[in-house]
Amino acid sequence: MTDTALTDALAWHPVARLPEEWRAWLKSQGEAPFRASQVFRWIHHQGELSPANMSNLALPLRERLASEGLTPPGTVVDVKRAQDGTRKLLIEFAEGARVECVVIPMTPKTAEDTDYLVDPELDAEDEELSTPKEAQTKVTLCISTQYGCAMGCVFCASGQFGLQRGLGAHEIVFQVLLARRYLEPGEVLSNLVFMGMGEPLHHYDQTARAVRLITHPEGIAMSSRRLTVSTVGLPGGIQKLGDDFAGKVGLAVSLHAPDDETRSRIIPMNQRYPVAKLLQALKAYPLPKRRRITIEYTLIAGINDSIEHAERLADLLSGLRVKVNLIPMNPIEASSLEAPSEAAVTRFRERLADRGYSCFVRTTRGDDVLAACGQLALQGDPGTLPSSVAVRLRRGKADGV
Ligand code: SAH
Repeated sequence: MTDTALTDALAWHPVARLPEEWRAWLKSQGEAPFRASQVFRWIHHQGELSPANMSNLALPLRERLASEGLTPPGTVVDVKRAQDGTRKLLIEFAEGARVECVVIPMTPKTAEDTDYLVDPELDAEDEELSTPKEAQTKVTLCISTQYGCAMGCVFCASGQFGLQRGLGAHEIVFQVLLARRYLEPGEVLSNLVFMGMGEPLHHYDQTARAVRLITHPEGIAMSSRRLTVSTVGLPGGIQKLGDDFAGKVGLAVSLHAPDDETRSRIIPMNQRYPVAKLLQALKAYPLPKRRRITIEYTLIAGINDSIEHAERLADLLSGLRVKVNLIPMNPIEASSLEAPSEAAVTRFRERLADRGYSCFVRTTRGDDVLAACGQLALQGDPGTLPSSVAVRLRRGKADGV
């Protein structure tokens, strides 16, 4: 597995630097190493990306930070707010890369939809937040790792769009820094899911760096247990994630079918990494006690939604600590596939529940603002994209797959 390529300039934006890297740079500039904490805190704790506003730094250092390229790497070009409080930010980065990031408040009304993301164990243990618990609304943030995606899943708008480019760690983190500004009074950022556009494990290095930045205690300081990486199921990437973060980062796997025949029809990657290989990787994931792997299963009418599929899924997952998240397919322009009837969804869920699985049906959040799965960023066709992107589109999709 190869990571999608990034140019040096994109990979080494100052926002992607960890404190130890700031220390080395500051030393090379003849500055005191303790400034590293100050710079890092300004960026990641305060969310201040303009050196001119870093008031406890001397003017010459602020100027050097500016000439080092420290500046916000993107801008919010659209915000849509759905009736259910979901906010979808459309962010534009260099080269016209547009990704979305979705702020999902977990109100009592919507708790059931987001239950699958929340681990009661965590809530019992945490957390010294300034707002009293009863006045808080927990917010889950869904972020993107690539502009487009190389995996080609037939039901997914990003998959059909193809990969344009991976995001640098600074661009991944910047989505969190920006989204924090869109929190409303009483809302606290509680969970972060890498479930937006792109395949995080096909872009491992930048994703892993983003995890390190987001969890750094001097920055955003989210606990890695509150992060969930969602993958199409690349075994090498799953193993690496497990090794690098000792299993602490939550894992969600887009399984969508219990057998190779069905899965290969909707997920081209399955031909390369069949179900048995994927299951092996899941079994080897160093899952902490009491944590479970989330199995995502997009239900598509007539493809993977029969009772036999539910039975086979139950057999396949036996012995694994999982919770199953059923997602009735959201229709996309590029495909005529559609969601099963409500009755079929219920039947599928009940069969899994009868077989002893925790099973949630994810109703679409924010669908009145097209918050579902890649749709906002992909409005408009490639003809309207900046020329650099159009060139790469013509060159073809994937780097390294
Ligand atoms: N590449 C990663 C993360 C991005 S997709 C992955 O495959 O998990 C996030 C989730 O949305 C995945 O489970 C994906 O299968 C699902 N998804 C994508 N398009 C969808 C659609 N049109 N309807 C329902 N779920 C969809």
